[in-house]
Amino acid sequence: MVAAVNRPPGLPDHISHAIGGRAVESRSGAVFEVLDPVSNKTYATVAAGDAGDIEDAVAAARTAFERGSWSRATARQRARVLNRIADAVEEREATLAEWESFDTGLPISQATGQARRAAENFRFFADVVVALHEDAYSTPNTQLGYVLRRPIGVAGLITPWNTPFMLESWKLAPALASGCSVVLKPAEFTPLSASLWAGIFAEAGLPEGVFNLVNGLGEQAGQALVDHPEVPLISFTGETTTGMTIMGRSAAHLKGLSMELGGKSPVVVFADADLEAALDSTLFGVFSLNGERCTAGSRILVERPLYEEFCARFAERASRIVVGDPHHPDTEVGALVHPEHYNRVLSYVEIGKSEARLLAGGARPAHLPDGNYLAPTVFADVHPDARIFQEEIFGPVVALTPFDTEEEALALANAVRYGLAGYVWTSDLRRGHRVAAGIEAGMVWLNSHNVRDLRTPFGGVKYSGVGHEGGRRSIEFYTNEHIVHVALDVARTPRFGAGQGQ
Ligand code: NAD
Repeated sequence: MVAAVNRPPGLPDHISHAIGGRAVESRSGAVFEVLDPVSNKTYATVAAGDAGDIEDAVAAARTAFERGSWSRATARQRARVLNRIADAVEEREATLAEWESFDTGLPISQATGQARRAAENFRFFADVVVALHEDAYSTPNTQLGYVLRRPIGVAGLITPWNTPFMLESWKLAPALASGCSVVLKPAEFTPLSASLWAGIFAEAGLPEGVFNLVNGLGEQAGQALVDHPEVPLISFTGETTTGMTIMGRSAAHLKGLSMELGGKSPVVVFADADLEAALDSTLFGVFSLNGERCTAGSRILVERPLYEEFCARFAERASRIVVGDPHHPDTEVGALVHPEHYNRVLSYVEIGKSEARLLAGGARPAHLPDGNYLAPTVFADVHPDARIFQEEIFGPVVALTPFDTEEEALALANAVRYGLAGYVWTSDLRRGHRVAAGIEAGMVWLNSHNVRDLRTPFGGVKYSGVGHEGGRRSIEFYTNEHIVHVALDVARTPRFGAGQGQ
């Protein structure tokens, strides 16, 4: 094993699965290697799961579910454990941030925020499940119908490598709050922080077997989870093309699906916008989290009278962003997650150079000869047919395009297949609301950057997803409605066979 730069203390050399409350290796004995994005050297081996390991994990989850100590616990009992999980996450905040930053290349300051958000997710769903009410419908003296919410069984959770721990918490918290058992398949690029879950759950008192984790490649462990007949639902976050494959294969078992997929979100900036606020927000919106953010505002549409000034100021600010060692507290953009992804982003930068005007970045910063670093890259005059306008790059690369009218702004905003997020900047609030309503996206922020009250739903339309997560919607996803009808007046029952007969 190579000693990587800034290797955080306590880092494991090997990462196992967690099945039925135990750390286990793959049945096949297979492993894969995982790199850190600063040195691109192997820092650990990871158990490479396949269908056999998924079989074991689902069996453990199913046994725990049937035992009932979690699936039939009261909402308050579950909420108590969820709050203890949040405590345990908070106690590990520093380690989590360090490990996440080391594994993903995210700046440490931003990784710390993600660890906090993960703890909040557990507290939030503890509250949601306690406040949840089940519906009842009555016709006086005649009929009563009531709706029981039952955990659906073993939930399959498949997650991506960007902000992995936080995104895992966003699925684990509502699935567990609902009483499900889970099998988590984290992203193969970034298995490190997920290796902390088993210890956190054990410390918080989650019964054994309710949480199971199988590491491995998507086409092996992920696919086996999707194909397993005893996993009635899959909650997936990742690329649109992967989501399509999962939807197709899930048809064989009519699985419930939640799909949080890719994006190419527009930011519409009108000439009357608060320019300073719009600049701050748009720079943060596309370059924070290394640009590896599903809701990144990666296409900025600017009204013509402001366009040249906006381009110049945006590019100037972009070129001052601090790119460097993710571990350094002042770093604003760190290293991209993996050389494979880095090369893909670089190939888009080369495509962009042939399609548009390069205003900033476009290459590795001179002071960073190694690691997956890219200077924040700004292209202007990007035509809507350009690939860098249409395709998700998922890195610190942005496309600027001018528009003349509100209609044109909306046509440009909606001219891509994605529909995850949108952003509008204007001081004309009537127009702001009109445009916010006209953008084909699951979520639009008006004169606001990407902040979200956890109670609001999250999700995309078009090729960005199916379904919404958040609050009650998440609980609905992980539960079945079970309806009981009761006659209150037996005299009203139709009386078949009470006549004379033949
Ligand atoms: P990805 O689709 O390559 O992988 C995501 C997960 O799916 C991984 O765990 C992977 O192993 C697994 N997987 C791959 N092939 C599979 C298969 N055939 N069957 C089952 N599982 C399989 O995505 P990624 O590169 O890890 O993540 C980046 C993508 O995620 C971007 O497109 C980004 O926009 C999207 N994303 C969306 C949201 C959202 O909320 N909409 C949030 C974060 C990331």
